[in-house]
Amino acid sequence: MRTIYRADPPWPHRVVILGGGFAGVETARHLERLTGRREDVEVWLVNRENFTLFTPLLPEVCSGNLEARHCVTALRAQLRRPSSWAVTAEVQRIDSDAKQVVVVGGDGERHRLNYDTLVLALGGETATFGITGITEYAVGMKTLADAFALRNRVIEMLERADLERNRDERRAQLTFVVGGGGFSGVETAGELEDFVRRVRKRFYPKIREEELGFHIVELKDRVLPEMPEDMGTYAARKLRTRGYQIHLGTSLKEVREDGVVVGESGTFIPARTVVWTGGVKPSPIVGEAGIEVDRAGRAIVGPTMATSREGIWAIGDNALIPKAEEEGHHAPTAQNAVREAKRLARNILATIDGRPGDVQPFRYDVLGTLASIGSHTGVGVVFGVKVRGLLAWFMWRGYYWSRVPGVGGKARVALDWFANFLFGSDPVQLKVDYGDRGGMGPSGRRRPPPPRSVDPRG
Ligand SMILES: Cc1cc2nc3c(=O)[nH]c(=O)nc-3n(C[C@H](O)[C@H](O)[C@H](O)COP(=O)(O)OP(=O)(O)OC[C@H]3O[C@@H](n4cnc5c(N)ncnc54)[C@H](O)[C@@H]3O)c2cc1C
Repeated sequence: MRTIYRADPPWPHRVVILGGGFAGVETARHLERLTGRREDVEVWLVNRENFTLFTPLLPEVCSGNLEARHCVTALRAQLRRPSSWAVTAEVQRIDSDAKQVVVVGGDGERHRLNYDTLVLALGGETATFGITGITEYAVGMKTLADAFALRNRVIEMLERADLERNRDERRAQLTFVVGGGGFSGVETAGELEDFVRRVRKRFYPKIREEELGFHIVELKDRVLPEMPEDMGTYAARKLRTRGYQIHLGTSLKEVREDGVVVGESGTFIPARTVVWTGGVKPSPIVGEAGIEVDRAGRAIVGPTMATSREGIWAIGDNALIPKAEEEGHHAPTAQNAVREAKRLARNILATIDGRPGDVQPFRYDVLGTLASIGSHTGVGVVFGVKVRGLLAWFMWRGYYWSRVPGVGGKARVALDWFANFLFGSDPVQLKVDYGDRGGMGPSGRRRPPPPRSVDPRG
């Protein structure tokens, strides 16, 4: 274990931000802006990857509308000051008594990182709620690897189905199940169906349209529970028109190698591709940080985002941030995270500078919510006005495009979309990251079946 010592005194006040997602990066950027040329405050941003993932566009990586690299932005491109540090490392533990964070860097060694102020912005990870088989056989939709893996899985299934002679197996290969009908589930489902239909038509003519099967399994009695009921109903109607069977009020009981078991009656849906978007839990590190957390493990903070321990703040998906003037908490969304970051940076600096009067609660009224459900269709509520169809989809694209960091980032996304509009999707399967698992992704432990003839004349 090595300790990263500071330079000679007088030491600058070190703000260590754990997590380089929306919340962490925006906090760092606002701190940079507020401190300007000051040399008495430095920012350290620690993240597992050396980039920030733009999650609202993640399902488009799966469909190939967007290149994987264009859905992320390098952390180093977002920090500007010489006194800022972007550290690519895995956070292992927080020692809040010693005011140190234990991280494992690319060298594989553990390092201790001193801090004066700590920001927890570690976000969340996929929660499986103990459902058997999710870890082994389902793909998530939370990381870039997930989107990549899902794309590879879908293409793999199309390739296999193209040669498969057994009707039942072929059917299972062409059946796609999405567990969870919230925002990310519906957006993933929309992109998935759109992509499969497009590439089938153009590149897999031997597969018939009616052989494709799409399912959404949702525990609640409607999809998009985050939106007004009629918007959820509209989204469900559109998805049904496109071939989705939507199982509402239905739990996913088990994921197996060859399908899923759903509902109390234990209905079995044969399917080789299962995407799980049904739950997110906070990073486990938060629960072990020596601060108060709720039952789910999220940091309990006040409206100023201060935790129960002085010098530690929490923000974004790993925090439970109460509304300042009314009951309830701010939703765990990217939209909220970037606004929380602005307030948090001010609060941190006011605390460092000894201006307690300037430490203010986070106040923000959500301007609206928008979701894309694929096929140039969207739903949303903007400034209280409900929008749907092509207009909502345009607004969704326009809004998220405007939030992509940097001019270069915006240009890349726009060019990808334009090229895709002109030339359509392709079924290129890049098996580069999971070679040892046959290109099946993180949950692709399915062994290929024993060798047999796939020649239709054989
Ligand atoms: C598919 C999908 C679509 C979404 N669409 C929308 C949308 O349209 N609109 C919207 O507002 N929200 C959307 N969200 C939600 C949004 O992504 C989150 O609310 C937002 O990312 C929260 O930001 P955060 O910084 O708290 O966490 P994150 O963005 O998750 O960032 C956390 C960071 O911490 C890092 N990290 C975690 N653990 C460690 C560790 N041990 N060591 C080092 N680094 C670590 C992670 O790698 C990550 O970079 C979507 C989410 C998903 C998954």
